This record gives sequence, structure tokens and C-alpha cells, in this order.
Amino acid sequence: MGKYRNIVILTGAGVSAESGIDTFRSAGGLWENHRVEDVATPQAFVRDPDLVHRFYDMRRAAIQEKLPNPAHDALAELDARWTGDLLIVTQNVDDLHERAGARRVLHMHGEHLKAWCTSCDLRSPWRTTLIERPPCPVCQARTLRPDVVWFGEMPYRMGEIYAALRSADLFVSIGTSGAVYPAAGFVRDARELGAQTLELNLERSQGSRWFHESRLGPASEVVPVWVEEVLA
Ligand SMILES: [Zn+2]
Repeated sequence: MGKYRNIVILTGAGVSAESGIDTFRSAGGLWENHRVEDVATPQAFVRDPDLVHRFYDMRRAAIQEKLPNPAHDALAELDARWTGDLLIVTQNVDDLHERAGARRVLHMHGEHLKAWCTSCDLRSPWRTTLIERPPCPVCQARTLRPDVVWFGEMPYRMGEIYAALRSADLFVSIGTSGAVYPAAGFVRDARELGAQTLELNLERSQGSRWFHESRLGPASEVVPVWVEEVLA
């Protein structure tokens, strides 16, 4: 497997875009005509919980209709065959990495297909709606919310992510703009710690200058090529 042993991969919207999943950013700050601050902040949930639930119920239903694309498939193959450490840190809240077969996936921004009970802190798999305020499967409180990190909230499992970055000798960023912190800072952390850094992105990003190498193109094309290379 050549010169690398431990790999950390950061994936973002560009990996899911070709599966038909859009984002606030790709939609120019609007998502299904909703502004970020109306549906994806803790303040919005306090102000208008029905709107927020309706919006996430719709997203939760929509992603279940989507399918993994060749970028997800290639990363799943890498995960299956890579004998060193590997962590796919994703900013995506869909389950397409998992449906492609990847197992070493960390969702730093949460998951559409989970509900979080703010009374007992349990996170449960969730595929249906929340707007009717179903009870928590454990404590029965009707305090479930989407288990998605909203703007202004802290991403999940940062300690695990930084631990992986510390031991990585290759950091790869795929389909992410390099604009949203803390993820945008991972490349500099990895590089300072001695890792080689590679960006695979549709176009040059705000963060491109921090990478040793950038390869441009759609994720469904550039990711399979890179995976084949690293497994050769
Ligand atoms: Zn509960």
C-alpha cells in the first residue's frame, strides 16, 4: 500500500451532490426556499418548531429516495480493503456512505436518520416524521428533535477527529468548500502534524492553497481514480 498507513478523509456536500442532494451552499443560501436562519438554528426551533420539523421531515424522506454514487462506492471499497487506520469524517447528514457499505464513518454534523431526545439525551434511529411529536422510545417525553448539528451548535466528536488527525499520514478532503470551520481547519492541523494533504474538489476552493495537491473534477470521477491509486 505504498507510503501511507493512516488516512483521514473529510467529505462534504460535493460527494452527495451527484446523488441529487442539495445544500444551503449550493442553493445560494436557500434550501427549498427556506433561509438557513429560519430552519437550521436552535433559535428557529424555539421560534417555530413546526416549520423546522416540517422541513427536516421532508429532508429525511427525500434522502431515503437517493442512491449512493461512484464516489461513495469507491470510498466504501477503500474502507473495506484498507488495513491501516482510516476514518471518513463526513459533514453530510445523509446515510449514503453507509449505504454504499462504508463502516468507518463519523458524522460530525449529525444524521438525518436519527432523532435526539433532549430530555434523556438518547439518539434513536428515525425514518419517519417528528412533526406530530412522537414520544421518545425510552423516556416517553415528546422532546425529539432532528439529530442534526444546527448553525451555531458544536459539531460532534471533535476529540475523536483530532485524535485521528494526529496519527494520520494522509489527509484527503473531498467535495467541500473549505469555508466552514472547524472542518476548514483540518487541513492545516493535519499538515502541521506532518501529514500529506490532498484535495479532490469540483473547483478550486477557499482552502485549496493549504493542500499539497488539488485535483479538480466531479467526485464520481476523481474519487474512484484516486482510490484505485492508493490501493494499487
Ligand atoms: Zn428520551
